[in-house]
Amino acid sequence: MESVIERIKKGHFWKFHGGIHPPEQKFLTSDKPIRNLPIPEQLVLPLQQHIGQAGKLLVAIGEHVLKGQALTQSSHPMAVPIHAPTSGKITNIKNAVIAHPSGLSELCLFLEPDNNDQWQQRHICPDFTQLTDHDILTKIADAGIAGMGGAGFPTHVKVNNSNKINYLIINAAECEPYITADDLLIREHCATVIDGIKILNHLLKPTHILIGIENNKPEAIKTLQQASQGIEHIQVCILPTKYPSGGEKQLIKVLTGKEITSGTLPSNQGIVMQNVATCYAIADAVINDVPLIKRVVSVSGQGLGKPQNVWALLGTPVSYLLSQCDYQNNQHKQVIMGGPMMGFTLPTDQVPIVKTSNCILAPSEQEISSQTKEVECIRCGQCADACPAQLLPQELQWSAKAKDQQQLAKLNLFDCIECGACAYVCPSQIPLVHYYRIAKAEIRQQQQLDITAEKAKLRFEARKIRLENDKKAREDKHKKAAAARKERMNSNTPIANTEKSAVAAALARVKAKKAQASAQQSTIENSTDVNAKKSNSDNAATDNSEKKTQVAAAIARAKAKKLAQKEKNQATEGIVDKPLDSVTQSTTDDKKSKIAAAVVKAKAKKIKETALQVKSDSVTKEPDNKKAVSSMDKVILESDKKAKVAAAIAKAKAKKLNEPTTDVPKNESEQSLSKSDDKKSKIAAAVAKAKARKLASKIAEPAEEQINVSIEKTNTAKPIDDKKSRVAAAIAKAKAKKQQRSESI
Ligand code: SF4
Ligand code: SF4
Repeated sequence: MESVIERIKKGHFWKFHGGIHPPEQKFLTSDKPIRNLPIPEQLVLPLQQHIGQAGKLLVAIGEHVLKGQALTQSSHPMAVPIHAPTSGKITNIKNAVIAHPSGLSELCLFLEPDNNDQWQQRHICPDFTQLTDHDILTKIADAGIAGMGGAGFPTHVKVNNSNKINYLIINAAECEPYITADDLLIREHCATVIDGIKILNHLLKPTHILIGIENNKPEAIKTLQQASQGIEHIQVCILPTKYPSGGEKQLIKVLTGKEITSGTLPSNQGIVMQNVATCYAIADAVINDVPLIKRVVSVSGQGLGKPQNVWALLGTPVSYLLSQCDYQNNQHKQVIMGGPMMGFTLPTDQVPIVKTSNCILAPSEQEISSQTKEVECIRCGQCADACPAQLLPQELQWSAKAKDQQQLAKLNLFDCIECGACAYVCPSQIPLVHYYRIAKAEIRQQQQLDITAEKAKLRFEARKIRLENDKKAREDKHKKAAAARKERMNSNTPIANTEKSAVAAALARVKAKKAQASAQQSTIENSTDVNAKKSNSDNAATDNSEKKTQVAAAIARAKAKKLAQKEKNQATEGIVDKPLDSVTQSTTDDKKSKIAAAVVKAKAKKIKETALQVKSDSVTKEPDNKKAVSSMDKVILESDKKAKVAAAIAKAKAKKLNEPTTDVPKNESEQSLSKSDDKKSKIAAAVAKAKARKLASKIAEPAEEQINVSIEKTNTAKPIDDKKSRVAAAIAKAKAKKQQRSESI
């Protein structure tokens, strides 16, 4: 059987499925040297420019950095650092739109060049063969090199391979239309590219090195053949032009005839592939200590006045590149990053060049018509015929539109290399790759969410187990302590007896506390009942007293009225004069009546004061009895008022009786009549006074009762206060009685 090398030497290659032959359009830039551009005014450096993770930030806003200085640090094998493309100042660190089909923003460093282009200190290594594999891998990793062919996979990971490598394939196919960056790089910097290949050879020690290059790059082929002379086991493989022969799986198939099945890596079959530009970057990093800070970019398209290849510093805004190539964007045409097949339209020309940017395409209206309109799939099957990954593009499209992620997985969506061959041949002008990219992004997002949810679930379950273990440990500990205590207490030692006593005392305390709480509760309930009953009793007594007072006052008023009528009749009958002793007697009676009324008032006042004193004591000693005291206040006030009214009535009657008549009686009969009236007046006054006394006595009694009730209610008044109140009430009664006696005498 013919070997791979024999086939290659004969110019026989395998064929991959599908593929297309679009117009190459490489002539726009292939005949012009790579141009060095002036340093732009600002560089925008996304922290992540590769597949993997962003490095840890090492600089801050305002910091001055030197050319080649690391701006981030690798903290993970899949994290590669970025470096300052020139010297200058970090002016900002914020999110900005990056070069991605999604148009998403990511964290970027903004560097303002100082135009000194001052390098940091470098360590040149003229002989890399003196370095260990580890040193070489470290240099590659520290230089931030990631696959520059478009994939962006960290190079130090890809070349750190312990498998036996049969084929190291250098990808110089550059099959995408318009792009000539690798072509020019080989032509102008072939020695460095070859140095990179030698370093990889030193690291991987492959059986064969195959440089795959399409036959549309004659100068580059010639240069490579010359540069590779003298190197063992290296073959420059001149391939027929067919898109996408530069795809990793497709180039492996073409050169070796091997199929890389879905979900496997080429290294599993002893194959490692690196891009020409990556080889250049490896050599620059290992030998010249130059990190990846610039790359060759094809700025092409008929929308440009001067399409050309340029050395672009990473972070250079696309707008700057276009302006350097005489871009005439009068009608704001679309600008594409990447080639016409695999590229994507930029959301803005402010996005920066990154490690994977190999082309900026500014096509004219004739090159890419914006008037194309998508129509329904006619199931012609041309897309499937063109697909180099042997997928079913039309079915992928339907599943992507339906967001059927399970079906997309079954259709091997992730084997799609987004070459765009299907869309290129589609007569319905369906932007198939656009749908695949969206579907891939959604699936990646969902996978990320699933991973996060799974991590959260694991954390939750771990916590649950930990809490259960803690609980069980606590319970075991308590059980052990209880068992030990029980054992101790049953040991009949003095310590055990002491513990028993302590437990018994604690139990007794608990019981006593319970009993006390229960007693307090019943006291509160009883007190509430007693207050309610007393309140009802007080109301009844007040009503009774009021009734009696009203009756007495009515009788007094009736008598006074009768007497007044009688006097009026007498006056009408001509009795005009009044004897002198009658007048004197009247004056004396009037005085007595006044004294009696004053005494009644004084007694009522005294009773009131006593009651108020008791109330004050009650309030001070027992705030809970405020309600009872308030009730008593009411009774006292009403009684006081009634006593005042009764005394006033008595005084008025006496006054009326003693009023001098206009005519004084002159004869015996008149005098006799006058005496008789005078007697009646005295009797009436005495009756009034007696009523007043009785009323005062009644007033005093409820007040005294209120005092007693208050004392009972409060249940806090000392016996001595109670005694005082009773003595005061007795004194008031005695005085009233004495006064009554003296008045009757
Ligand atoms: S090429 Fe276009 S129209 Fe034809 S089957 Fe594929 S998607 Fe449908
Ligand atoms: S873009 Fe994907 S589906 Fe379309 S031809 Fe290329 S590999 Fe196949």
